[in-house]
Amino acid sequence: MAKKDCKKKTLKRKKLHPESLMMGYGYNPQWSEGSIKSPIFQTSTFVFETAQDGKAFFELAHGFRERGQREKVGLIYSRLNNPDLEILEDRLTLWDNAEAAAVFESGMAAISTTLLELPEPGQVVLHSDPVYGGTDHFLKHTLAKFNIRAIGFDPDDGIDELNALIDKEGVRDKVGAIFIETPANPTIELYDIEACSIVAKDLSQADRKVHVIVDNTFLGPLWQHPLKHGADIVIYSATKYIGGHSDVVAGAALGDEATIQRIKMLRSQLGSMGGPWISWLLMRSLETLKIRMEKQLSNAKKVAAYLERHPKVETVYYLAHHDPTTRQGEIYKKHCLEPGAMISFDIKGGEQEAFSFMDNLELFHLAVSLGSTESLVQHPATMTHSGVDPEERKAYGITEKMIRLSIGVEHPDDLILDIEQALEKVS
Ligand SMILES: *Cc1c(COP(=O)(O)O)cnc(C)c1O
Repeated sequence: MAKKDCKKKTLKRKKLHPESLMMGYGYNPQWSEGSIKSPIFQTSTFVFETAQDGKAFFELAHGFRERGQREKVGLIYSRLNNPDLEILEDRLTLWDNAEAAAVFESGMAAISTTLLELPEPGQVVLHSDPVYGGTDHFLKHTLAKFNIRAIGFDPDDGIDELNALIDKEGVRDKVGAIFIETPANPTIELYDIEACSIVAKDLSQADRKVHVIVDNTFLGPLWQHPLKHGADIVIYSATKYIGGHSDVVAGAALGDEATIQRIKMLRSQLGSMGGPWISWLLMRSLETLKIRMEKQLSNAKKVAAYLERHPKVETVYYLAHHDPTTRQGEIYKKHCLEPGAMISFDIKGGEQEAFSFMDNLELFHLAVSLGSTESLVQHPATMTHSGVDPEERKAYGITEKMIRLSIGVEHPDDLILDIEQALEKVS
């Protein structure tokens, strides 16, 4: 286990901001010939100094006994732990002020491993609707094989609506977890994390905790901190803002030490842990996370304001534009620090106009995924959400005229110039 305080100096490290710690936290250059960056520990297994050490490391890994006060968790095998993975996990906890983190080979691995560990067969998972396509399939089809039922609820739902739903479905003693993705993709609608946590606490019993799990991929880890609002577990597709360069697929789950430990146990069995190379790349990405997300944010505000004024644009879905007197505006004020860099909008017309706009863009790349340095555009109805039942899709407001933008770090004037010329070509 990486030691957290490499040097004892005047600065109390825990008082510094996360962005000041991303370059060295959890790593000591003395471990690696003075190398300023952690090397890539490209190894499958680790040599024990003595047989007694090997025995002790396994006792802790299996949870056979509590860790001694000065005892470190030894390195055994890279499916269980690896220095790059552990240093990355230590750094990731800082943004959300979490006790522990688990990193995975993908966001879906983080989601599926967490959802397989926390609810029990026979229980129910309440979930926000719509959710990411992979999550949607996992909730509605894969969990059903384990006799876990998924029940969706709406963005504006608060404590009363959730309780009414639970009673209507007759599942008051069956709820195993509440899973929400907020803001929702691609409608950018918010869910009330605090209301979910109050309902979950009310449903929890001494021997049955109802966990609130929040997929914070769209706004985190900078602009929304679900743990502060009562969530138990925060999930990321680290493929998006955390990785940030469209070159890595990875995921993470963050929360309290004991629950993350449970999730890591299952991760070791499924083999869905992050490897050394992925972990090293993400450490590199974390160093610039804040400046990237700040630039993406300031660009997005300008692009959204431009779209709002354009005669060929019908509706813009951007968090900053919520009327504070509405339910959505109220949740925004309560949970979000900034509106982030995801914008959806309806173009006047339908699929033909949407495609013409997208095909004429020159600087934006036509691709799914999000959160990267380059700006991306995609058409949810025929791309990311084409697998969703057409009736449900319509009910969510994902129509043929909806276009989703992920704003990157380019010059904002160039992004607007590109949008302007592409909209001009739409007849
Ligand atoms: C991309 C994404 C996922 C899945 O993550 P992968 O890294 O692609 O496995 C889950 N949730 C949200 C909100 C996403 O955008």
